[in-house]
Amino acid sequence: MNLIELKKISKSYKTNIGSFEILKNINFKIDKKKSIFLFGPSGCGKSTLLNIITGLDVPDKGSILYEGKAVKENHMELLKKDIGIIFQDHYLISELNVIDNIKLKHQNISEINEILNYFKIDDLKLKFPNQLSNGQKQRVCVARAMVSRPKLLIADEPTSYLDRENADLVINLILDACKNFDLSTVIASHDISFKSNFDYSYTIESNSLIKC
Ligand code: ADP
Ligand code: MG
Repeated sequence: MNLIELKKISKSYKTNIGSFEILKNINFKIDKKKSIFLFGPSGCGKSTLLNIITGLDVPDKGSILYEGKAVKENHMELLKKDIGIIFQDHYLISELNVIDNIKLKHQNISEINEILNYFKIDDLKLKFPNQLSNGQKQRVCVARAMVSRPKLLIADEPTSYLDRENADLVINLILDACKNFDLSTVIASHDISFKSNFDYSYTIESNSLIKC
C-alpha cells in the first residue's frame, strides 16, 4: 500500500532567459514504512521533486495522491500533521533554546521530552543553536521533524554540512527512527555511499526518475 503517489508530474522554471523543464512526466510511489534514497548530481531536480511531495512547490502538470485521495488545497494540512521535513540547513532560531525551537513546531512538552529522550539528546534541551555542533544541530532537526509523529519524513541533503562520521550517524538515526515509528522516508543526497542502507533508490536523469 502506498502513502503518496505522484502521477505524471512535470515542472518547469521560468527565468529571464526562458523556461527550463526540470521534471517530465514523473510517476513515483512512496510505499508505507519504506525508505527511499534519491541521489544524483547537484541541479538534477532532487529538491524540486521533494518540494512537490511536501507541497512547498507546485507542479505544472500531474496529480498527487495521499493515501489514495487527491491532494489539493489540503497539502499544507498534511505538511503540519503528517509530513516531517529535514533540510540541509538547520533553520533553528538562534535566540531560542532547543526546547523552544521545537515548540514552534509542536507545543506538547511531554511529547517533546519523549522525542528528545528517544534520540538521547536530553542534555541539549536548554542549549542555544550556537552552543551545538553541526551534528548535534542536525539531530535536533531530526527530533523536530519527528515530534508530531508524521507518517512521512522527507530529508533534503541532511548531511551536506557534516563530516563522514556524523553523516553516517544522522542517516542511520533517521532510518532507525523511521523503522521504529513506522514512517516512510525519502532522503535526497549526492553521496551515493548511503544507497545500500535503503529499501529502494532512484535517481533523476534527463528530467526523468529512474529506479536503480
Ligand atoms: P538538486 O536539488 O538536485 O540540486 P534542484 O531541484 O534544486 O536540484 O534544481 C534543479 C534545477 O532547477 C537547477 O538547474 C536549478 O538551478 C533550477 N531551479 C531550482 N529552483 C529554481 C527556481 N525557483 N527558479 C529557477 N530555477 C530553479
Ligand atoms: Mg537540492
